[in-house]
Amino acid sequence: MLDSIRLRLTVWYTGVLTLVIVVLCGVAYFIFWRSAVRRTDSNLVELSNSFLVTLHAELEDQTGPDVFLTAGREAIEEHHFRDTIYVITDEAGKVILSSQEALSPNAPAKAARKQILPSASFQRFLAASAQSDRIFGHIAVTEAGYRAFAQRFSGKGRNYTLIILQSLHSQQEMMEEAGTVFAWLIPVAILLASGGGYFLARKSLAPVVAMSSQAGRMGAENLHERLAVQNEKDELGHLARSFNRLLDRLAESFDRQRRFMADASHELRTPVAILRGESEVALSQQARSPEEYRESLDVMHHEAERLTRIVEDLFTLTRADAGQYPLKPSDFYLDELVAECVHSARTLAQAKKISLTLEGAPESPIHADESLVRRMILNLLDNAIKYTPDFGRVTVSCQRNGREYAVNIADTGCGIPAELRPRIFERFFRADKARSRAENDGGGAGLGLAISRWIAQAHQGRLELTRSDSRGSTFSAYLPASSAPSVSRS
Ligand code: ADP
Repeated sequence: MLDSIRLRLTVWYTGVLTLVIVVLCGVAYFIFWRSAVRRTDSNLVELSNSFLVTLHAELEDQTGPDVFLTAGREAIEEHHFRDTIYVITDEAGKVILSSQEALSPNAPAKAARKQILPSASFQRFLAASAQSDRIFGHIAVTEAGYRAFAQRFSGKGRNYTLIILQSLHSQQEMMEEAGTVFAWLIPVAILLASGGGYFLARKSLAPVVAMSSQAGRMGAENLHERLAVQNEKDELGHLARSFNRLLDRLAESFDRQRRFMADASHELRTPVAILRGESEVALSQQARSPEEYRESLDVMHHEAERLTRIVEDLFTLTRADAGQYPLKPSDFYLDELVAECVHSARTLAQAKKISLTLEGAPESPIHADESLVRRMILNLLDNAIKYTPDFGRVTVSCQRNGREYAVNIADTGCGIPAELRPRIFERFFRADKARSRAENDGGGAGLGLAISRWIAQAHQGRLELTRSDSRGSTFSAYLPASSAPSVSRS
């Protein structure tokens, strides 16, 4: 039931609000009650003072043996209010006069009032009042109880204590009324607030609902659609923009993947077509000489090799993209590896009468995946020889620049047109498709540089075209150097 954020928000909001309202009402109720008690107390003090003024005046006027009692009765007569009881005790704490006896008792209050003076609560207060000059207390008789105030005074040379009790009945009634009001107000406020909370939650989550249903409709076919951004600056706007950016990246990656598939199948089509054509021709001609068969097989073998190379390159790139190409780093000397690669490329270079030279390389210990680094250098060497005309020159060097090695492969080839230079590391990109295929023995599929750059990057290095003009090109591979050689030189 609480699966919807809207409902959960409403429940939380209502819960917190209920807590706040209840606490606030509790505090308000307490403050209200405290101020009522204070009012009662100051009223009692006032009554007490004015009673004593009257009593002293009466004492002056009166004469005779029971002068104190007569004066006391007169004062009580004058000051008597409903809900108030006056009690005077002597020094021993004995009640000598109380408004209950002094007045002709009024019918409804009489029964209840009769219980007050003998009650244990009053007796306790009486005992406490004997200990101090002024004291407040609570007499817990009847439902509401009485607030009591005792004050010591002297008259005609003796000490007495005046106690005034005020019924808390009206105060209790007032508090009950306040309680009833709160008891009605709290549920109504919570009900209204939870309704409002639900409405607000619904309204503020409406864009999320719209976004989610739009996102739900998205697939590979309409990956170029974007979520509507209503307010760029609010949180939902941020969410929509982040989602749109994610879609941009997804669409880009989808496009790249699509292009990759299209290019890959295009590249694979040519050798497959040659293989099929060649085999069909070989099979269709009845009388063929062994030389002719050998020639056909030779072409087919060559195309099969090319197919294998392309498939392997594709496989390498796919695994690299998925981060699944495991590097197998080991310690070796880069200068030795470069020399080995130059040695293996010598036959290729000789076939084109190209002079291939390795400039003296310093000792270069490195920790890297040897077979991948070899593949990168051979790719670069292969390209340099492939794109350099006969009788040209290819120079290889390996040097240390600070904390990295730079392997430079410079040729005197045709160079790469400036506008195409930024694209040569793209997959399947060939600056001159016709030439790279026809002139170069079937050529590559335009994956060599892409793989080489990935190899450099996988080693936290980089591969750059550092120079290219009509006099030739230089490719430089930068690889991080090992801090110390950990292998002995072979
Ligand atoms: P390919 O298999 O076609 O050689 P690469 O990815 O190795 O694919 O190279 C991409 C393109 O870059 C090549 O087709 C070629 O046009 C250009 N290129 C690479 N190396 C050189 C070079 N040394 N000189 C001139 N052009 C080059």
